[in-house]
Amino acid sequence: MTTTAHRAPTRRIDGPDPALLDACVHCGFCLPACPTYALWSEEMDSPRGRIHLMKAAVEGRATIDDRFVRYFDRCLGCLACVTACPSGVRYEPLIEATRAMIEQQHRRSFGDRLFRAFAYRTFPYRGRMRLLLLPLAVLRPVTELLHRTGMPRLLPRRLAAMLTSAPPLRLRNLFRRVPAAAPAGAPRLRAGLLTGCVQQLLFPDTNAATVRVLAAEGCDVLVPSRQGCCGALALHGGRIAEAKRFARRTIAAFERAKVDHVVTNAAGCGSAMKSYAHLFADDDRWRERAERFAASVRDVNELLDELGPPRTPRQPVDARVVYQDACHLAHAQGIRTAPRRLLAAIPGLTLADCSDDMCCGSAGIYNLLEPEPARRLGDRKIEQLLAAKPDIVATANPGCRLQLAAAARRAGRTVTFLHPVELLDLSIRGGEPPGGDHSPR
Ligand code: SF4
Ligand code: SF4
Repeated sequence: MTTTAHRAPTRRIDGPDPALLDACVHCGFCLPACPTYALWSEEMDSPRGRIHLMKAAVEGRATIDDRFVRYFDRCLGCLACVTACPSGVRYEPLIEATRAMIEQQHRRSFGDRLFRAFAYRTFPYRGRMRLLLLPLAVLRPVTELLHRTGMPRLLPRRLAAMLTSAPPLRLRNLFRRVPAAAPAGAPRLRAGLLTGCVQQLLFPDTNAATVRVLAAEGCDVLVPSRQGCCGALALHGGRIAEAKRFARRTIAAFERAKVDHVVTNAAGCGSAMKSYAHLFADDDRWRERAERFAASVRDVNELLDELGPPRTPRQPVDARVVYQDACHLAHAQGIRTAPRRLLAAIPGLTLADCSDDMCCGSAGIYNLLEPEPARRLGDRKIEQLLAAKPDIVATANPGCRLQLAAAARRAGRTVTFLHPVELLDLSIRGGEPPGGDHSPR
């Protein structure tokens, strides 16, 4: 006797919520803030144009074809439009739902599918990323030579972008672990650190500094061992089922650790985890857990600022620092003053400002998927930052750091990049700020 296996049909994704679309009054105030509108001056490459296209698709007046998809692929998801919009349009759920609709209903070219499958099945998995980075770390002189000669430019554009964004790596960094840390006295709270995929492999010093600074400020810092990717990449790419899988695992790992706050030092991860409540809004089993988790998430700058005046004395750090706003911190989470306040409180440190807060072109894996516009935005941004004549560029997102380091290399400039928490750590522990190219080594 044969049996028929019944599989639940995949629910059709209908695209963005019409009520959210209707909030746009088409005033155009967002246009000057939008990097893709700045690049191409085309209405459909602006937030207003994209919202218009979304509405047309939802109402069945537009076909989801290559041309339609292109306008959404070119959007960085930087959310500068959200900050600029006086009508409170919530562009983030709109672009996420549109991308989810595209991923479900549109068949991309073979090459595009292949590259995306590789990226989404490699980057969020630390073990796979380690394997990918291993040859670059072992053959470091070769990769440095490649950077100097510009040879990767002869390769297909996405492969070339991947090689030129990869920083010089130290083998031991790929295998480092972050230890937990306890404060000297009674703990003020329990903080669980999300170590992240890229952050831990490429910038383990940032994680180590985060643990030390939080412990110095009275936090009991835990590093749950069974955490994985938070799902940011999948979520921002419209891969909702995948994002939910990562989110469920992250929620469970931090629930087991019984922490008061889940702390991250990566802007993209913070913004994704804070949106878990929205991600599980229609899931009766996970809604409450996701809401609780999202409410506990703090960017490390945010938490340190909330903790108030420092408990540990600060040593002088004699450096001129320009702080770069990561889009997913400034626009997605509204965190601008906390990192500046923390940096400005370091004795001896001069905080310079950058007149421009347009996206650097990193935007998750945008710099790999859309290398040409990303490169133009990166070149523009590094020029703006270096105009402030800094000794150090401080940025709170690993993607921005990679993107800006690659832009600095192209410009032939040696720049020191640090996370703000690394400067705080330096100030607590004392010592000279690192000079030169402080890419992962
Ligand atoms: S998104 Fe906001 S700023 Fe842009 S056109 Fe619509 S209402 Fe105006
Ligand atoms: S998210 Fe950024 S790139 Fe996309 S429409 Fe908004 S401002 Fe433009």
